[in-house]
Amino acid sequence: MAARRGTSTNAAGANLWTIHTRRTRSFATLVVTTLLCTVVFVAVAQAGSGARVIDHGPNRPQIALTFDDDFCGACVDGILQVLASTRAEATFCPNGVSARAGWSIADRRLARRLVARGQIAFCNHTYSHFDVRRLSPGRLADELNRNGAWIEATFGTDPRPYFRPPYGAYNAKTLAVAGQLGYGRVVMWSGTLADSSPRSVPYLLAAIRYWAKPGAIILAHGDHPNTARALRRILAFLHARHLQPVTLPHLLGGAHPQ
Ligand SMILES: [Zn+2]
Repeated sequence: MAARRGTSTNAAGANLWTIHTRRTRSFATLVVTTLLCTVVFVAVAQAGSGARVIDHGPNRPQIALTFDDDFCGACVDGILQVLASTRAEATFCPNGVSARAGWSIADRRLARRLVARGQIAFCNHTYSHFDVRRLSPGRLADELNRNGAWIEATFGTDPRPYFRPPYGAYNAKTLAVAGQLGYGRVVMWSGTLADSSPRSVPYLLAAIRYWAKPGAIILAHGDHPNTARALRRILAFLHARHLQPVTLPHLLGGAHPQ
């Protein structure tokens, strides 16, 4: 399941590799061309959709930790316990089809309490974790509506307007459907723990040291226990760096959905 997902692979990495291998081309020309293509693509993708793609927040001393996907029992329990005891904030993006098994009744109750005090928030990662570019608009709407309804029924909060496409993959059609359904903020990430595969605690700590910056949105997963085991030390590191862990709504300045 974890290997299938691979959401941590950022297209930016591939672009960098491409840049490094094309030594015969002018670096400056390549950078300008890449930037222009990106601007044109984003402009086309967002035209008329009302959905906005976001990969970081304002340049303030805040950071958003986001946890995606399945959530094993020990993972969700560990993450919630650390959040509850530290009062740190975080955002969860579970897929209902697989995540529901990991959230015990006690964890769901605790999550509802943390939601009520604005300490955790949810975003919609679809119900089944398909590459949504391959879905018809109707199927994508079903995926978003079904997962949104499950999140609201389970945790007492509406994940709108936050939508994270599985694998970070989207196109203009995705944004149009998301926007029509009230998911006006399509949330990517600026850094990742790369933990869709099992990672050691030192690996996870090295990842946060590298990616933690003001306004960062960090991609993490609820699939493997080491992420929960590392969380307390991750939070200590963020505290030392004067970066406050906040929810997506708090990072992006939106109202906390309830
Ligand atoms: Zn995912």
